[in-house]
Amino acid sequence: MIPSAFAYFAPTSVAEAISLLEQYGDEAKILAGGHSLIPAMKLRLAAPSVLIDITKIAELRGVVINGSINIGALTTWHTIEYHDGLKGVCGVLPEAVAQIGDIQVRNRGTLGGALAHADPSADATAVVLALDAQIRTHGPGGERTIAASDFFTDMLSTALEPNELITAVICNKLGAGEGAAYAKFPHPASRYAIVGAAAYVKLSGGKVSACRVAITGAGPVPTRQAETEQALLNSDGSDEAVAKATEESGTTMDVLGDIHASEDYRRAMVKVYTKRALTTALARARG
Ligand SMILES: Cc1cc2nc3c(=O)[nH]c(=O)nc-3n(C[C@H](O)[C@H](O)[C@H](O)COP(=O)(O)OP(=O)(O)OC[C@H]3O[C@@H](n4cnc5c(N)ncnc54)[C@H](O)[C@@H]3O)c2cc1C
Repeated sequence: MIPSAFAYFAPTSVAEAISLLEQYGDEAKILAGGHSLIPAMKLRLAAPSVLIDITKIAELRGVVINGSINIGALTTWHTIEYHDGLKGVCGVLPEAVAQIGDIQVRNRGTLGGALAHADPSADATAVVLALDAQIRTHGPGGERTIAASDFFTDMLSTALEPNELITAVICNKLGAGEGAAYAKFPHPASRYAIVGAAAYVKLSGGKVSACRVAITGAGPVPTRQAETEQALLNSDGSDEAVAKATEESGTTMDVLGDIHASEDYRRAMVKVYTKRALTTALARARG
């Protein structure tokens, strides 16, 4: 359980971190909360020869709410969970992160680290998809903004270039007629999602005018539920409409089975948790 030897750098600015990434290329790994990378290094599943610890880069921390919501990549789950302003403008974020791991994990784990790692059972991945968030990155070529819908490319894989850093996540504030919710069936030990569903809805004139549902935990990649979204659009968002729209939830997506839950069981839970998340999101949209 001892990692292989590595050189350690602790830059204090994004520019310095990018220049180290450029210098060391594939040999280097960013270190944020360390809750995924350090265990992987101890098990020798990862053996970077250079660690670039970004925790001293103050500009990557914190939540700024103005026209939109900007959450620095290094912001911990604990900060998001207890942020006063977030509850009023995007309550699904604190709601979801409060369900992550335990207090030690929430004190160390970061939003940027979780998105870059793209664990198939992570909670925040589904939430950023349902919120249609933008992921801001910085690399040698400057800044990029990647839509969450384009970010997760495969199991543990993202659209991030090896020499790029996630700097922030940007999402819209939810207003009147909008609601979002996260519902998850947690693994009893780690609390990672066996299945988690994040839902966003907008009601206009009593009809569902926008709907996004994203699933984590079930398959290799966090996935939007296009059929369910389409089926709920233009409905009245009643319990009957949700029941109808979720009839086929989980049937076409890529689902994995493992020692914790079979493929069939996960598919069944996709439907259950999608229904729960949508029902709560709709109740919140009605105010
Ligand atoms: C016991 C335990 C239980 C957990 N339970 C849950 C759970 O229930 N739900 C859940 O969602 N998560 C859970 N986690 C994961 C945890 O919450 C963190 O989200 C996760 O470890 C990644 O965040 P980190 O800051 O620790 O990243 P690190 O471990 O520091 O990094 C992870 C990866 O991301 C890269 N990286 C980090 N930051 C950036 C950045 N800004 N830009 C580019 N690349 C970056 C690193 O190079 C590394 O490859 C659990 C972890 C543990 C140890």
